[in-house]
Amino acid sequence: MLQERLGTIQDEIYTCAQCAYCTATCPVAELKGWESYGPRGRMHLLKLVLENDYKANKELAERFYVCTTCSRCEKVCQTDLPLIEIWEDVRSWLVEDNLGPLEPHRVIDASVAEFHNAFREAAANRDAWAGDIELSRKGEVAFFVGCTSSYKMQKLASDSVRILQAIGDQVAVLGEEEWCCGSPLIRTGQRRQIKGLVEHNVEALKNTGAEIVVASCTGCFKTIRDDYPHWYEKKLPFKVMHISQYLAQQIKNGRLTFTQPINQKVTYHDPCHLGLHAGEYEDPRAVLQAIPGLELVEMHNIREESRCCGAGGGVKAGLPDIALGLARTRAEEAEETGASILASCCPFCKTNLSQAIDNEKINLIQKDITELVVEAMGI
Ligand code: SF4
Ligand code: SF4
Repeated sequence: MLQERLGTIQDEIYTCAQCAYCTATCPVAELKGWESYGPRGRMHLLKLVLENDYKANKELAERFYVCTTCSRCEKVCQTDLPLIEIWEDVRSWLVEDNLGPLEPHRVIDASVAEFHNAFREAAANRDAWAGDIELSRKGEVAFFVGCTSSYKMQKLASDSVRILQAIGDQVAVLGEEEWCCGSPLIRTGQRRQIKGLVEHNVEALKNTGAEIVVASCTGCFKTIRDDYPHWYEKKLPFKVMHISQYLAQQIKNGRLTFTQPINQKVTYHDPCHLGLHAGEYEDPRAVLQAIPGLELVEMHNIREESRCCGAGGGVKAGLPDIALGLARTRAEEAEETGASILASCCPFCKTNLSQAIDNEKINLIQKDITELVVEAMGI
């Protein structure tokens, strides 16, 4: 029961000073305007349940599922509470009590169990994005494609592999042996399949012979880099990099050069799983700034103060109106810079920001960094 589980984090619950620094920075609290939708309110709700002054119910569960797990709150917490761990643990306890997750999250869990991907797509079609690109199962660099790029945003997969092959890497992809990384399940508290997914994917990646695993989805990147060691229970036998980090390294060592100028003003949105979670703010900017003609103009909230696109933590699937509300604010902030392109490097950011741009008729084009790199390489 949730109340018993909360006993394991009672120190954290009583450490919360109720100062509200977290709520002041939470984009969902700002959007919804109610204390219980923000982090301080949730910490207070946990105290009430722990002390048996409030019984957990579906309404309380929904307050935990509005969170995009962006990590802005954790960065400002005055008592250094591990807030993301708390949000994700509480979600898993709500699932145990059948109070969570939200219905669309259950569909994802069932899809991963049956098809090994989040979209009920045939596992045999994992490589369908490749077209005429020649694929290998062995290589020095393994590219973890991710469910979204494999089935829904296939240009991100093909652009990424074309770039890696053009700079001379032997690239391995897993095909049918790539299973969902587990991110949508971990973020929504659905842990029943995670150990199996992690063990399968680590073994499959090991079999490629690669020493470096590259991902262009920041959800896959963060999950494999930060969550896998916990579930695998040992050190991973490879290094995990986001493609923006890998490309910045190749620019530095002279393997990646650009021939085609992009004479545009570009602003960059930090994806939460790359920026706030992994502390990587410089490499994506270094890639953009290496493109001739491109002028990088910054938004008001960037790096540690970056605002979430709204798609993380299962919010896009479970509460799409909240996701789009957050994306609208971010896209408007991007528009204020006068840029013509809003760049990012995550398929979730791309989907959500593009929808907000279309809905609000904002004068911006959303592009993934890999799209800009392909254009600037002329490939
Ligand atoms: S992780 Fe982000 S959305 Fe969730 S409570 Fe913290 S600041 Fe708000
Ligand atoms: S910033 Fe930390 S201590 Fe202050 S209310 Fe939020 S969770 Fe509690």
